[in-house]
Amino acid sequence: MKFENSRGFAKNMDREDALASYKDQFIFPKVNGRKVIYFTGNSLGLQPKSARKYVDDIMNDWADLAVEGHFKARKPWWDYHERFSAKLSKIVGAKPHEITVMNTLTVNLHLLMVSFYRPEKKRFKIICEEKAFPSDQYMIASQVRFHGFDPREAVVEVKKRQGEHSFRTEDILKVIKEVGEECALVLIGGVNYYSGQVLDIKTITRAGHEAGAKVGWDLAHAAGNIELKLHQWEVDFAAWCSYKYMNSGPGNASGCFIHEKYHGLNDIPRFEGWWGHNKKRRFLMEPQFEPEANAHAWQISNAPVLALAPYLASVEMFDEVGMDALIAKRNKIVAYLEFILHEIDREVKGNFEIITPSHQEERGTQLSVFLHGEGRELFNYLMENGVITDWREPNVIRLAPAPFYCSYEEMYDFGQILKKGILK
Ligand SMILES: *Cc1c(COP(=O)(O)O)cnc(C)c1O
Repeated sequence: MKFENSRGFAKNMDREDALASYKDQFIFPKVNGRKVIYFTGNSLGLQPKSARKYVDDIMNDWADLAVEGHFKARKPWWDYHERFSAKLSKIVGAKPHEITVMNTLTVNLHLLMVSFYRPEKKRFKIICEEKAFPSDQYMIASQVRFHGFDPREAVVEVKKRQGEHSFRTEDILKVIKEVGEECALVLIGGVNYYSGQVLDIKTITRAGHEAGAKVGWDLAHAAGNIELKLHQWEVDFAAWCSYKYMNSGPGNASGCFIHEKYHGLNDIPRFEGWWGHNKKRRFLMEPQFEPEANAHAWQISNAPVLALAPYLASVEMFDEVGMDALIAKRNKIVAYLEFILHEIDREVKGNFEIITPSHQEERGTQLSVFLHGEGRELFNYLMENGVITDWREPNVIRLAPAPFYCSYEEMYDFGQILKKGILK
């Protein structure tokens, strides 16, 4: 498609956008009385207007019913977490019983490693990507130490090649092969948080299995962003936070995928609690744990329904729209943003370097851009002029035009503001 850097062209794209009306279903912060251009849906998604009602319902049921709300609330609390499974399963390409929602992301990865990182004398290494999200690095190192191994030996990082911004699948496969029989677990971010690169989950998962390892994925930047087929790709486990592309609210609950081949095993290593117990017998207060025959077996505590409420509101919006429609718009609006960046770069004789892969299959919603020669003043200028973006030292901005609520006209406006900020 041939794009134009003009307001008229962008407005026309908005008129033809089947998702355009969803913008009104989100609440935008304002700068100078105007709605911001929001590029940080990859960090904290906007609040859906429907979220407040879901929370209010629980507050009201709590007021009106108190303890009876567990069974008599509009959406009873005792199995509130089960409402996510069918809808989330479509978003991440799983079977409904492979999904549960609980805790927060890093906590869940720790809990899943209890089941899937079982180091032995010979097979004890974990393969991850270099410069993984810090929480993942701390988590992996602490798990390794917990099992009595030394992270310097046990953690193997796949590196990017000198001067390149993306990981090459062939390099990841090579490391997996080299580590071979020593590899206990491959655990990588499905979409790299810094560059926005989408990894080849299917191929890497298969290679990990061929080496005899388990393979898990941190899908913080992938869930609600890219197409996933976790079941079909035979991923062993995955987890994601819900407050990024999934708009559930700050610090909110994490979704988990556990492949069905691990369900119904009474002896799988796992940290257990009463919410994972057979739901029909949960309140009999029996001494012996009997796991649910699905991913809910990994539940521990009774569900924090007040936190889950806005997540449920959001998941229902995703269900209404569907990932196909979101991905179709995503591809178009990201391509348009890329075009705008190239145009402005040319007009200001700049030196922008988009470090996110240019192939659609290797990227999702985020473009990470090196603004060579620019500094933090430019970022401040953007923020003061209503462009909410994210700055990483030395001069990388990450731009994620979430297809749910960003418009083509905003991409045009952003280009104009960026140009003014550079030329001023
Ligand atoms: C955002 C993010 C996290 C955050 O973890 P929390 O436990 O929710 O604070 C972890 N890993 C990755 C890759 C992330 O992008």
